[in-house]
Amino acid sequence: MPEGPSIVILKEAVEEFRGRKVIAATGNTQKVDLQQFTGQVITDFKSWGKHFLICFPNTTLRIHFMLFGSYRINEGKSTPARLSLQFDDGELNFYACSVQQIDTPLDEIYDWSADVMNPDWNPAKAEEKLKSHPTMLVCDALLDQHIFSGVGNIIKNEVLFRVHIHPKTQVGALPPGKLHELISEAVIYSFDFLTWKKEFTLRKHWLAHTKKTCPRDGMPLIKEYLGKTNRRTFYCEFCQELYVA
Ligand SMILES: [Zn+2]
Repeated sequence: MPEGPSIVILKEAVEEFRGRKVIAATGNTQKVDLQQFTGQVITDFKSWGKHFLICFPNTTLRIHFMLFGSYRINEGKSTPARLSLQFDDGELNFYACSVQQIDTPLDEIYDWSADVMNPDWNPAKAEEKLKSHPTMLVCDALLDQHIFSGVGNIIKNEVLFRVHIHPKTQVGALPPGKLHELISEAVIYSFDFLTWKKEFTLRKHWLAHTKKTCPRDGMPLIKEYLGKTNRRTFYCEFCQELYVA
């Protein structure tokens, strides 16, 4: 599943289609009547965490890649596209994703300050939200899209490793300095992820995610399915501290 930085990469990659008219909108999505988009001009591309937003004058198409979604720019795949937008000299194709139409103004439904990659990201608001969930595990908090929109499982594992916090620590047990470190590292690592993903070197930089040994102390890393979403978590029991309230 693409995490926030991958959606930012997509947004940059499709920039050439901003301001362009769709000459045909097709696809096998059952949720949206695509005909209405033929002849419409794309006014903008936005992202909110893992949501990719294609903006038209009065409506928006929201793409969520779920587990197996993918896209192709100016080329196709052999499988049928869920959504295909044709331009006079180009095309955008989306596969195995969820497509939804949003008629509400985006500012009314999206809290841009919760998106770790957005210029409007607000760490003070994230801190407030975290403090209102003292018993939430940090591994769940990082994946909570209303607090850290865009953070996915890889970022979660790497951030917790970087800040030496055990994934089963409850948010309320973190000393203030550690809480701030967690919040700022979620952003710092997301931008590192963006840089490395563009260089095709992301995996090479993983310290904990999918790893078997702790690069800091050589101890075996634990792999466990944790939190309310039961996601794969890699951590070191020796150098990631379990804080207790
Ligand atoms: Zn370690």
